[in-house]
Amino acid sequence: MHNALNTKVKLHRLGISDDDTCEICGNGSETSSHLFFECECSSKVISLIGDLIGESIPSDASIDWRRGLSGHGMRKDIMNAIINACLYTIWKQRNLCKHELTLITPQKLVKLIIEEVIVRTLRFPENLGMRDRDLLKRLQNRN
Ligand SMILES: [Zn+2]
Repeated sequence: MHNALNTKVKLHRLGISDDDTCEICGNGSETSSHLFFECECSSKVISLIGDLIGESIPSDASIDWRRGLSGHGMRKDIMNAIINACLYTIWKQRNLCKHELTLITPQKLVKLIIEEVIVRTLRFPENLGMRDRDLLKRLQNRN
């Protein structure tokens, strides 16, 4: 998924963008690994989400999140929903930032990510075990 995105580094290389600076933090080149892992905003988001779910999420592009986390006993579906929601929400907010000059805060992103996770996982509530329901309830209450 990452490599399909038109990051500013790509657009700059193609001569479409004047610079390759990250839209969110303004520090560093906007590659997909910067955007999702190294950017100070996203790394804050990832650590806040990790605190909420009680697992640390490796904030490194080289780590396979799914494989890394499935060994922790957390349900794969929820974990995948969290990861997908992180990527989706960060990219969506980055686009808003670029086109509408909206301010992004890690707290706001976390809120949006959790909403997304809840919507996605509740689509198939019959697949959820007790532990999953507890986790979702916890996320819902803290949001
Ligand atoms: Zn950044």
